Amino acid sequence: MTARPLTTDELLEFASATAGFMPEDEGELLFEVAARALPHGPGLEVGTWCGKSAIILGAAARVAGSVVFTVDHHRGSEENQPGWEWHDPTLVDPEFDRIDTLPHFRKAIARAGLEEEVIGVVGRAPTVAAHWRTPLSLLFIDGGHADEHVINDYEGFARWVAAGAVLVFHDIFEHPEDGGQAPWRVYQRALVSGDWELVTHRGSMRVLRRIGGDAGDPVR
Ligand code: SAH
Ligand code: MG
Repeated sequence: MTARPLTTDELLEFASATAGFMPEDEGELLFEVAARALPHGPGLEVGTWCGKSAIILGAAARVAGSVVFTVDHHRGSEENQPGWEWHDPTLVDPEFDRIDTLPHFRKAIARAGLEEEVIGVVGRAPTVAAHWRTPLSLLFIDGGHADEHVINDYEGFARWVAAGAVLVFHDIFEHPEDGGQAPWRVYQRALVSGDWELVTHRGSMRVLRRIGGDAGDPVR
């Protein structure tokens, strides 16, 4: 635990130094969008990993006087498993011979002093979504990147994004040579639904806003 609360700049630096998958400039956009959205209600992230983006969202939640729930089974996605591109053997729990990012996440949030703002929810996203009942000011979809997972995350949680509130997608790659296509397909589906307007984007991040309200006042 930290002796004094870290400043926003220190928190963002701490996030930079935390293991994960969030380029600096996209993290800055996530912070700006979240700081504007979160005063209007809680936020939810799908895909915690070791807490890198959760710290960014937590820093914004602190500024906004709000909270962020972050959902993960902490067993890693397909691409994190042994033999795949994004495997890190230091994250394997030897007792079960499975990835376990939960202790790393917990330590990161404690070190950041964000235990009041960031609430870890440990479980499969569709199970959590099936029981979720709370309108959201911000939804950040950054969980499993296979079609099944992105579709589940969108169908399970996007319905809880309030009018005027924001839906942020990560890892949106239009061209297959840049990355997996499932998030792109779901993002396209969101756009043609007529429920969302594109507010801003940076790198592989896309910020949508639910049409029909002014909650969140996201950056343009
Ligand atoms: N936001 C993180 C990166 C998330 S990586 C960062 O900034 O670094 C994607 C995460 O989604 C992994 O931790 C994986 O365990 C989780 N995940 C994948 N499929 C899931 C599912 N069906 N339910 C819950 N979590 C899932
Ligand atoms: Mg990502």
